[in-house]
Amino acid sequence: MSITADSLSNITPPGLTIDGQITTTTAVIPVINPATESVFIEVPDAGVEHLDAAVAAARRAAKHWATHDLPFRQGIVLRLVDHVRANIDELARLVTLEQGKPLAKAAGEIESGLRGLERYASWAIPVEVIRNNDDELIEVHRAPVGVVGGITAWNYPLLLALWKIGPALITGNPIILKPSPLTPVATLRLGELAQQILPPGVLQVLSGGDDLGRAMTAHPGIDKITFTGSERAGKSIMAGAGATLKRLTLELGGNDPGIVLDDVDVASIAADLYWGALSNCGQVCAGLKRLYVPQHLAPVIEEALAEVANGVKLGNGLDDGVDMGPVQNAAQFAKVRGYVDDAANRGADVYFRGEVPEGPGYFHPVTLVRGVDDSVPLVREEQFGPVLPILTYTDLDDVIARANDSELALGASVWSSDERRAIEVAERVEAGTVWVNQHPMLSSDVPFGGVKQSGLGVEQSIHGVLEYTNYRVLRVKR
Ligand code: NAD
Repeated sequence: MSITADSLSNITPPGLTIDGQITTTTAVIPVINPATESVFIEVPDAGVEHLDAAVAAARRAAKHWATHDLPFRQGIVLRLVDHVRANIDELARLVTLEQGKPLAKAAGEIESGLRGLERYASWAIPVEVIRNNDDELIEVHRAPVGVVGGITAWNYPLLLALWKIGPALITGNPIILKPSPLTPVATLRLGELAQQILPPGVLQVLSGGDDLGRAMTAHPGIDKITFTGSERAGKSIMAGAGATLKRLTLELGGNDPGIVLDDVDVASIAADLYWGALSNCGQVCAGLKRLYVPQHLAPVIEEALAEVANGVKLGNGLDDGVDMGPVQNAAQFAKVRGYVDDAANRGADVYFRGEVPEGPGYFHPVTLVRGVDDSVPLVREEQFGPVLPILTYTDLDDVIARANDSELALGASVWSSDERRAIEVAERVEAGTVWVNQHPMLSSDVPFGGVKQSGLGVEQSIHGVLEYTNYRVLRVKR
């Protein structure tokens, strides 16, 4: 790691946003650009006193924000969308600097989140009328949960933040966001921009480490935690939230299987299989992480994947023509390399290793591995990097059992030229989403979430939006 005066002076470090004010701290978090391994900026490291101030401001804001009607809140959210979109180039550059992904992908991530907010801002919040007769009126309304704490991971810093901001605000809740300490910059800047549109205390961003996340989880002034990150942290949050019985939405890790059936046209699916596994440098919660292929098709599928991989250009996300950036951080880089070395030591055939640029940066080659079985950690655990293990099968019942033999169950996919056959297999696979002939495909009007230990609840769609509400029953005797 190195710090250069030059790199630190290029960008004004964004501050914490507390009660409509932008604040700094004496303690700082150095943020590393993964493409250069240099610290490019330092941001505030918020402590418990900042959290207390933000919670107090959020509770004050909740009183008026919740009393505005839905169209008013939706209108303000749409103004926020316009304002963020007007600043998308600056935000995308920050995402690339801190996260590593190519600039166009960073802008795409933000635009996709903004389109989600526009969609949420067009929906009615339903009121269910259970009875309306001479004797009684019974309605089920949705009320805001209160103050929301949002905690996010480093793979899609702004997309994950927007997925939480939109539903929280629209349903009448202030939100305090804590981005990953590895990628806090763009989210802090988003918080600053939001102060120009939103009343004080409605959206606040605090950068800090895992301890700040633990303090949010325990804080009696926060009513709900919406979390995206590892299952380890998710379990800690679930335990920590018990004391105050917080509402929880947990979007955790995945180890998604993809099952290729024996009737596929390999040439037509190869690129989709590849990018299903290795987009965002393989750092996708619902990326394809274990590929099961019929034994007799393995050679042709392996070759087709290597051909796609061969055309992928790694590099600094700020440079033109780059398809894939570095792994986001040194620890993740070491973890991914460890999985590959371990698999090779156990006899796996690492049959494709892509090129990496010269010089610094956490550039891990695109790596395709065959000759592994399900017991290898590269297959059993979530590798979260640009590596795909390819496994073979001869019996369909057996491969479905192998696909289901995981504590994680976020997504899965089945690939076939016969839709009916693919759906029959899909119905037997345990996952929050099973895709057919694609992986992953998320849309803001479709619920997304994991089952088993991949999470609790869903994000996106009206179902995800309503997770930011409590039921409130109105029961009138006539
Ligand atoms: P992480 O769990 O280490 O960190 C995520 C966030 O949680 C950070 O802000 C961190 O500071 C905070 N945190 C860590 N420990 C905490 C604790 N005990 N209490 C409260 N907060 C805590 O995860 P990561 O390494 O940043 O992200 C990678 C993981 O996120 C992968 O497992 C990936 O699959 C998962 N992920 C899931 C989804 C999804 O939608 N299901 C999306 C993106 C990433």
